[in-house]
Amino acid sequence: MSIRRICKYGEKILSKKTSKLDYKSVKDSLPSVLKDMIDTMRAVKGIGLAANQIGLDMNLAVIEIPDEKKETLIVLINPEISEKSGEIYEEEGCLSFPGLFAKIKRYSKVKVKALNEKGLPIEVNGEGLLAKALQHEIDHLNGITFIDKLPLMTRLKLKPALLKLKMRWKKIDESKSIPKMM
Ligand SMILES: [Zn+2]
Repeated sequence: MSIRRICKYGEKILSKKTSKLDYKSVKDSLPSVLKDMIDTMRAVKGIGLAANQIGLDMNLAVIEIPDEKKETLIVLINPEISEKSGEIYEEEGCLSFPGLFAKIKRYSKVKVKALNEKGLPIEVNGEGLLAKALQHEIDHLNGITFIDKLPLMTRLKLKPALLKLKMRWKKIDESKSIPKMM
């Protein structure tokens, strides 16, 4: 098990669109990359993680929403939203912004097309929390973080707090210790 450091707000890789994956050429390295992503996500009790959050330029994300009844791990390679509807406006957090929460406007229902870990095409229908997680992770893969979705005025108001938090976030290294503030 290897827990990786999660990139924090301000690190360039988070604002860069990730490269689409050619399944055949990443097939061999995929299991170990996915294992690290899943271990890291679980270690910090996240419900989703994009590869660029652990410093990898790969269009790849994992989502796991706790549900006692079924296996809920979803692997998404090159995911794209194919259908969207409705609207929700709820609080969201992000592993790259530990301890920061903000209300974000999202579609309440989305359909996502992607490849799974076996390279097979899948369709994921998400509602509620899953819909939010799908949009949040796909945004990451496109270089967009959740605060980019905030209205300009809110972002401006948040700026001083963000700068202060940024200093603290720099020192958090999940591969060495798990932050208690999550
Ligand atoms: Zn995030």
